[in-house]
Amino acid sequence: MTATPNDTILDHWINGTTSPGSSTRTGDVFDPARGVVQKQVRLGSAADVDAAVDAASKAFTDWSQASIARRQQVMFKFRELLNARTGELAEILTSEHGKVLSDAAGEIARGLEVVEFACALPHLLKGAYSEQVSTDVDVYSLRQPLGVVGVISPFNFPAMVPMWFFPIAIATGNTVVLKPSEKDPSAANWMAELMTEAGLPPGVFNVVHGDKEAVDRLLEHPDVASISFVGSTPVARYIYETGTAHGKRVQALGGAKNHMLVLPDADLDLVADSAVNAGFGSAGERCMAISVVLAVDSVADPLIEKISTRMATLKTGDGRRSCDMGPLITREHRDKVAGYVDIAAADGATVVVDGRGIEVDGEADGFWLGPTLIDNMPTTSQAYTDEIFGPVLAVVRVSGYAEGLEVINAGPYGNGSAIFTNDGGAARRFQREVEAGMVGVNVPIPVPVAYHSFGGWKASLFGDAKAYGPHGVDFFTREKAVTARWLDPSHGGLNLGFPQHD
Ligand code: NAD
Repeated sequence: MTATPNDTILDHWINGTTSPGSSTRTGDVFDPARGVVQKQVRLGSAADVDAAVDAASKAFTDWSQASIARRQQVMFKFRELLNARTGELAEILTSEHGKVLSDAAGEIARGLEVVEFACALPHLLKGAYSEQVSTDVDVYSLRQPLGVVGVISPFNFPAMVPMWFFPIAIATGNTVVLKPSEKDPSAANWMAELMTEAGLPPGVFNVVHGDKEAVDRLLEHPDVASISFVGSTPVARYIYETGTAHGKRVQALGGAKNHMLVLPDADLDLVADSAVNAGFGSAGERCMAISVVLAVDSVADPLIEKISTRMATLKTGDGRRSCDMGPLITREHRDKVAGYVDIAAADGATVVVDGRGIEVDGEADGFWLGPTLIDNMPTTSQAYTDEIFGPVLAVVRVSGYAEGLEVINAGPYGNGSAIFTNDGGAARRFQREVEAGMVGVNVPIPVPVAYHSFGGWKASLFGDAKAYGPHGVDFFTREKAVTARWLDPSHGGLNLGFPQHD
């Protein structure tokens, strides 16, 4: 493989090979656990996007005509290679994102699920057939690819989020231009090279690195049929509005503020384990992380005690060592997240466990912030209303189910929400009444398996298609309904009326 973390400059991947492109701009790629720049990444120009779209357009002619069996073989091979080389990709993720190695392997496993779903695509591509809808007339439906599709992904899942989209897009016969996050871009090249090794023809999967300039060209390019975006809400809204204004099909998944409502009958040990795992895994840089625990008053004190005790056992440090939690993605982001702890304290919240200035198992210059627990968080504080995206877990005390639900539903986001209870009736009521696209019942991170679809409500998803699963197949295909009759002389005669059945 040519693109390893030791390269000095990471190139684009266009038409089955690396390409420096025409832009002279580059961006820093950090090793967040060491706090140093480890390589540069090209920041592509509009012309670089044009080159990738051109390669993808040319490749579409043959790839869209390739048999289902051939497309399926590539996906099976890719799955086999990725399984065999998960460790290699996990090291890349840890080195550029900072998440601990076991978490990186978990991210890859969840991406692999979608690859496996795509292996079964021949079944999902089957249309419907209705015989004799009128005398000697049949109607049937086909699913056909869109063309060149654009994917724009965030820093927090550099492998899994691209895998939410490209396996299904490619298996259904589209060609892809991926613009990964410029903060941890190497995984994209690694996966594109692996797809080539799996037998994918040049031009079917292209990677253009960059920032807003490359994204804007993808949004405007007349030969790009659709955009699949995952990132923060303000950018998601912009992507949706700009992409649709240019006539594209757009799915834009945005930010989140996920709550976990704890009723008094819940098992508090299980709740405390779940809150710690879902609050601090991947340093809270997950769109499905739990950032707020809504604790009914009578259980708040014992629950906080149990959470704090568990937090004291967590080891923060370099993800390549045996730690539980790694650094944040950049120094700026770490400082911003730490700033929210100051804001919460100034707004009257109680900082129960303070992760600022924590001792770590790693280099001093890493972008560290330890697990932080805040009690009595006012829902008017900016530390509550903003998405923090870091290892900060807030507790908001509520009087009961009704107030908890009201707090959740008053927020602008609707990604994931969980309830912890042993009362089946309360859980059932919650799943009906909560305004969120993904709901957990005693499950803190309810990410659906690959054969369902992933996506939130409200400001967590713009567009009407979620990611992967049945929504993914619909998004990356256009349905065509055929009405057919094989003519014989009895069908002759003029009739200008609207066709009716006989
Ligand atoms: P981001 O919005 O900053 O960046 C996402 C992508 O958009 C990147 O490729 C980036 O280069 C590009 N981008 C950034 N600013 C842009 C602009 N002004 N114009 C055009 N393109 C731009 O997000 P991030 O910081 O990389 O990722 C974290 C965010 O993603 C969080 O808000 C998190 O909740 C969200 N996220 C959501 C989901 C979900 O499924 N809903 C999943 C993962 C992450």
